[in-house]
Amino acid sequence: MTVSTNIKCDVCGHTFTIKSQMDDSIFAYDWPIEIVCPECSNHIALHMNYPDGIKPSSYIVKEDGKTHIGYSATLPILSEIYYKEGIGSFNPFYSAYMNLCGLYGIAVIEKHKITIAKIINGIIPYKSLMIELLPFVKLDGNPEYLLNKLAVYFKQKRGEKRVTANCLEIYNDFIETIFNALSTAEYIKQRSSYMLELRNFVDDASTEQLQQLLDCASPFQDIDKWLISSAYPYIADIVNHIEQYLPATFFSSIGAFSIPHAENLNILTIDNRQVSDDYARGFEELMKIVPFMAAIHNLKHNGDCNHYKEGEVEYTNALEKFVNKTNGDKKKEIYNSYPSLKEYLEYTIENHIRNGKNHEDEVYDVKTQNIAYHFNANRADAIHNERLIDVSFRVYLQLVVMMEITILINYIKKKL
Ligand SMILES: [Zn+2]
Repeated sequence: MTVSTNIKCDVCGHTFTIKSQMDDSIFAYDWPIEIVCPECSNHIALHMNYPDGIKPSSYIVKEDGKTHIGYSATLPILSEIYYKEGIGSFNPFYSAYMNLCGLYGIAVIEKHKITIAKIINGIIPYKSLMIELLPFVKLDGNPEYLLNKLAVYFKQKRGEKRVTANCLEIYNDFIETIFNALSTAEYIKQRSSYMLELRNFVDDASTEQLQQLLDCASPFQDIDKWLISSAYPYIADIVNHIEQYLPATFFSSIGAFSIPHAENLNILTIDNRQVSDDYARGFEELMKIVPFMAAIHNLKHNGDCNHYKEGEVEYTNALEKFVNKTNGDKKKEIYNSYPSLKEYLEYTIENHIRNGKNHEDEVYDVKTQNIAYHFNANRADAIHNERLIDVSFRVYLQLVVMMEITILINYIKKKL
């Protein structure tokens, strides 16, 4: 079923008819709706809830919209039903679901429904909890208080058993459950084999080796500090607005990981400013832990965190190559010297997007959803073009990679 709502831009008066594909997810959370006015470029942020409909209601008007937009909270929108001019410009019964089925087939779309069901049941009800629990982890307080907070949240009786885990461990267990809900079978199959190799290595490694790993990385990045001040707050913040990324998880559901995606898929749950901010933050936090990932690679392959060997090239000061380097140079080192890590991190540490965002020089085209990132202030032709949904998919990948790394670090710490 689709429901039509007419709204009016509060800046220029341009009218829209939004045709929303109604599904059960409306009972689980408020749907985010982000529209950019093609007339005046005003960003209009709305949400739809049950039973009230579109909020704020001051945007709602009676008249039919000049621009028609097909909307789904969980599916990408094909260009056939995206920003169409004129009344009756697309069949009112033609929903985002039907539209996508024509391109991918029903079996593929059903795969995505499994992902969405996992997220709605396993993450959405607790999405703000990750932020609420952070102070307990930061202060490394009494883990009983944290468990009591969880008990209140889940309306369960407070535990009377002695607590053996600390706050950090409990929090990380929580991240693992979120990761299980957010990763897909295709993600694990296509993107996660490197992580599995590292976990197998940790299983076989001696305590001395693992201690060396944590020690040798600490001059470059205090691991606990990274978890508590970088990784956890980042994960908590993105998870707290995960509903904006649901249509972008489509590519993970169907196992299409290469960017750019060929199809013209659109997304109306998030706008370019939020996506670019989230991406830039994920990039910064991931770059901080890259030396640690290089250290574990060297330890695994050459028995020493600092010993690098690949073909003819060999040196014993591998981690120094990351000291006082810009993120761009750190990325170059990874791309040139650590092919398996490069493959694992692919699409998550593209610095052109971060730089374009940093220079606050990004140009968004509403009609095509292309974002042009001008990544070098001195060169007018230095432009990285990417569709909004692809940058959103990168943020999704950053999030799952960040979670996997925190899970790996805690796996190592538990072995000590
Ligand atoms: Zn407008």
